[in-house]
Amino acid sequence: NDIIVVLGHGQLARMMYLGATQLGLNIIAVDADKRVCVNAVDKTVLDITIEQAFSACKAITSEFEHLPKDLVKQAQDSGKFKPNAAAIAAGADRIVEKALLEKLSIPNCTHQIINSVNDLKNAYDNLGPKLILKTSRDGYDGYGQWRIFSAQDLTTVCNDLADFDFEFMPLVAEQCILFEREISLLGVTDANGQHKYYPLTENHHADGQLVLSLAPAPDLTPELQQRAEAIHQAIADELDYCGLLAIELFQTGEQLLVNEIAPRVHNSGHWTQQGCAASQFENHIRAVAGLPLGDTSAQHLVAMVNYVGEPKPSTDIMKLANTHLHWYDKSVRPKRKMGHINLVADNNQALQKLIGQVHDLLPESLAKNLAEIKE
Ligand code: ATP
Ligand code: MG
Ligand code: MG
Repeated sequence: NDIIVVLGHGQLARMMYLGATQLGLNIIAVDADKRVCVNAVDKTVLDITIEQAFSACKAITSEFEHLPKDLVKQAQDSGKFKPNAAAIAAGADRIVEKALLEKLSIPNCTHQIINSVNDLKNAYDNLGPKLILKTSRDGYDGYGQWRIFSAQDLTTVCNDLADFDFEFMPLVAEQCILFEREISLLGVTDANGQHKYYPLTENHHADGQLVLSLAPAPDLTPELQQRAEAIHQAIADELDYCGLLAIELFQTGEQLLVNEIAPRVHNSGHWTQQGCAASQFENHIRAVAGLPLGDTSAQHLVAMVNYVGEPKPSTDIMKLANTHLHWYDKSVRPKRKMGHINLVADNNQALQKLIGQVHDLLPESLAKNLAEIKE
């Protein structure tokens, strides 16, 4: 049996398909809202029910943690779901996630759970004067967040939340961390619990959304890599994990704080498509299919530029050597991830030059975000 079912049908499912197909495995994607099976590439509806797909496949996995609970339960009950329902819950609900980190004594952002406007005022007194308020569920790409950076912001947000249903959606207030940089660790765990790690990636965001990843992270030391791996291993082992798990970290000097975890392939790992013998997508599929893992070491330096909210770029970008456009074939919406570009080099000078060349060919909104990082 060579079928892997992926819950979700966005670009991550599509790229898992690309990773799987070269191994001779088939992917069936699931549109979790419409509850139908679809082709992972062109999204056409397939003539097979979810029940039939679950019973026919070798394994079930997901591309997204914000899934309907009954669908996750159905996958879990089949006995084929990788990683598992508990890992999805830890990625989907910040309260569950924080409890997991606390249980493992893993440093994370100082935070308070917010069940009322009064709780928020109290959190501001305890954690302020700069807070980031987040919905406990359903947030991604910086959606579902409020930045509270002054007493006036606090008043505004408290007014906005006057009729908020905290019982339905508790919030989490985090202290705003003045980190030096953001990094992420992608690790993959095979069916026997053996881990492999990609080198740490440095990530740059604008408006809560990823703009650029650099890999391996500049100035990466073996000590930093090893400390991030220890955190990753503790979480993966606790969750009895199988597949790719991404951990977002804030680094200040030697200190690492976990921002959040993602129980799936991750935007900050797209560089592995050109940087490594086995991409995160291929390795995730290998893991959930019970196959041996591929090499995770970096063979090149890679910069991954996210292509957000703009139509397909001019073909001039494709004329640049060592530049790989990945396009997801989605309709354009503001802030929507449309594709990414992997830039490959063998030294930092060449990489910076390539970033500059790509910058000059990007639409203004994207060029601006990139220019702000370079400074
Ligand atoms: P994702 O698409 O990664 O799931 P998300 O919507 O879950 O995003 P977070 O990762 O929680 O959002 O936050 C988005 C970005 O906002 C972070 O990468 C970081 O740049 C910034 N941020 C979040 N929390 C904090 C914090 N406590 N202190 C400082 N910056 C923060
Ligand atoms: Mg998130
Ligand atoms: Mg994040």
